[in-house]
Order: sequence, then C-alpha cells, then structure tokens
Amino acid sequence: MNAQMPSDLNNKRVIITGGAGIICGEIATFLAQAGASVAILDLSAERAEQKALEISKTCNQKAIGIGCNVLDKKSCDAANDKIKEAFGGADILINGAGGNSPKATTACEFIADADIDNLDQTFFGLDIDAFRNVFDLNFMGTLLPTMIFARSMVQNKDGVVLNISSMNSYRPLTRIPAYSAAKASINNFTAWLAVHLAKQNVRVNAIAPGFLLTNQNRFLLTDPNTAELTARGSKILSATPMNRFGTPEDLLGAVKFLVSDMSKFVTGIVIPIDGGFSAYSGV
Ligand code: NAD
Repeated sequence: MNAQMPSDLNNKRVIITGGAGIICGEIATFLAQAGASVAILDLSAERAEQKALEISKTCNQKAIGIGCNVLDKKSCDAANDKIKEAFGGADILINGAGGNSPKATTACEFIADADIDNLDQTFFGLDIDAFRNVFDLNFMGTLLPTMIFARSMVQNKDGVVLNISSMNSYRPLTRIPAYSAAKASINNFTAWLAVHLAKQNVRVNAIAPGFLLTNQNRFLLTDPNTAELTARGSKILSATPMNRFGTPEDLLGAVKFLVSDMSKFVTGIVIPIDGGFSAYSGV
C-alpha cells in the first residue's frame, strides 16, 4: 500500500525533552518503533546518550542524545543547532521534562488547630526557591523549548507540539501547590498557543497522565522502607475507578493520536489518561 496512513510517523523528526526519564523514555522508544527519528534531550547528557544508543540499536532508527537544560536558553539554542545538523529540523516537539520536589511539598494536607504553633510544616514554611524551581521546571521548561524548537515549524507551516500536563491541572492535589499551579498553567498555555499557531498549521495539545509510580512521586505514594502504599497512595487508588496506577505504556495510544495526522483537525485539547480519576466524584 503506497498511500500514507494518517498514523504514519515515517520520516518524522521528534524532539523529546526529559527523554531519558521514565515516561518520555518509553514514548521515545515507541515513536522510534513507529518510524520516527528522535532527539532525546535531558539534563543528564549521559542518560540521554545512553537512551539514544539503545533506541538506535533496538529500533534501527536515527536517534541522538543531547544534554540540555530546558530552563536555559543558550542550552536549548545549542541543542537546536545539533538537531538541525543531525536531522535538518524537527516536525514534533514533546515537552516532557518536569517533576515535583519534596522541598516544594507541604508536610500536611490541612492546617489543623494543632498546627497553628508550628506553621513551618505548612504552606507558610515552604522553601520559596524550591517552589520557584518546581514551577519553573514544569511551566517555563515547557514555554522556553517551545519558543526555540517550534519556531521553524511555523516557518515550515507544519508541526506538532505535545505538552505533558497532569491530574493536578484540573483540581489541585493537596500538598504540592507549585506542581499543581504549573500543570494548570500548561493547560491554559496549550489552549493559548494552539490558537496563536493555528493559521500556520502547527497544532498544540497535551496529555494529562493520571498516577504512575515514578521517581518523582514514589516518596509520596509508597513507604521507602516497606514499599507498601502510603495513606495517600491508597486514597488515589480508591479514587481511580479502574483501581490501579497507570503505566507509561498506557499513554502511548493517545501520544500517537496527538502527534500524527490521525488528529490533524485537533488542536488546543488536553486528554486525561487516568483510569477515570478525573471523572469520578467519589460517590
Ligand atoms: P522522570 O523524573 O522519570 O523524568 C523526568 C526527566 O526530566 C528526567 O530524566 C530528568 O533528568 C529530566 N529533567 C529534569 N529537569 C530537567 C531540565 N531542567 N532540563 C531537561 N531535562 C530535565 O519523570 P516522569 O514521571 O517520567 O515524568 C515525565 C513527565 O510526566 C513530567 O512532566 C511529569 O510532571 C509528568 N507526569 C508524571 C506523572 C507520574 O505519575 N509520574 C503523572 C503526570 C504527569
């Protein structure tokens, strides 16, 4: 069959930030298996290169790994130059770098009367630099790479941007205000940019994964000594109608839909992939 299928990613060139991480590493391998060339960008150059090597060996696709800090314009510009040299440009940008930090996390969910004399355990004691780092990593770390890597997509009148949001974006989760605010900003920015770029045939969408057990949330969801679920981990499972945590593979169908021509008239949306968490009122 000669006709190009709308799901076809052959000859597509993908940039994926945070590409050495758990979720984006899986997405990068999947897109390479579907025929795309991939540029893995990560703060850790070593892990980015390792991942690229693994992909080029196992998927037989062109893959490069580049150390890049999504919060640093010079670093993104340098990565852009390397990508142009290796691939001649890019068709798809996935903004995957992100995460939370224990320092931007309150110790308690609610301020009880007993906490009044010890407000440092609450919102009032949060380390403002840690708060800013988490907010910036998730929001500015999406905005800045988009400014740099999507510019040529507009010039070519063809491209796709995929952002990674979270369940926090719809209703904030307790204890993690910086991460919640940043992911809510991503939804708003996704819609804003989709409109701004629509006449240039560049689409902008997002996925909002539910709860996956990964390095950034393991400390909140499981006990480090016993690996048993914490009270918060159990609460999440009972609020997830499908009654399990997600896996990176659960995200792949929606990713392929949003980055390929299967969704060529879809822009400005956020797809929840959450086992029903965002639909469930609890009763
Ligand atoms: P992860 O920690 O495995 O991956 C994140 C990657 O980003 C790491 O490889 C890290 O080195 C890289 N990174 C961190 N700071 C960077 C920077 N300044 N510049 C470039 N790279 C940087 O986390 P993950 O769970 O795979 O998360 C991937 C994305 O999915 C994040 O945006 C996260 O917020 C989002 N997400 C995760 C979950 C979950 O349950 N794990 C749920 C919803 C959304």
